[in-house]
Amino acid sequence: MIRISEKLRLQVAQNANFKCEYCLIPEYFLATTFHIDHIRSIKHRGESLLINLAYACPHCNQNKGSDIASYNDQEEITRFFNPRSDNWEEHFEVNPNGIISHLTAIGEVTIRTLDFNQIERVILRKSLIEIGVYNS
Ligand SMILES: [Zn+2]
Repeated sequence: MIRISEKLRLQVAQNANFKCEYCLIPEYFLATTFHIDHIRSIKHRGESLLINLAYACPHCNQNKGSDIASYNDQEEITRFFNPRSDNWEEHFEVNPNGIISHLTAIGEVTIRTLDFNQIERVILRKSLIEIGVYNS
C-alpha cells in the first residue's frame, strides 16, 4: 500500500468537494472512509502526484483496482474516465431512478468496471437525488 501524506490526502478530498470523483456519491452519506485513487495505477507507472490522484468511494476504488481500461461493447480497449482531464457530464448521465447511463465508450467501460449501477448503490443514489443532495 502506497502512503499518501495527510496533507496530500486532504488536498485531494477538498478538490473533490468530498465526493467520489467517479460515481459522485458524497462521502458524508457513506458510513465509510473514502480512498485516494491512483487514476493511472502505480503498476502502470502512475505517480502519487495531485494530477494522478482522485477521491474515490470504496466501491469505485475497489472495483477499479489497478485497472486502467477495459473492452467496450465493440471489443475495443477503452480507457477509464479520468477525473483530472475528462468532464463528467460528457461521459455520464444520472437518471431520476438513480441509474447512471453512459454517453461515451469511456463512460460505458467505467460504469461497468466500477459497477456504478449495483443495486444497493442505485437505491442510495435515488434517495439522495430525492432529497436533493446528489448532483453532478
Ligand atoms: Zn464512487
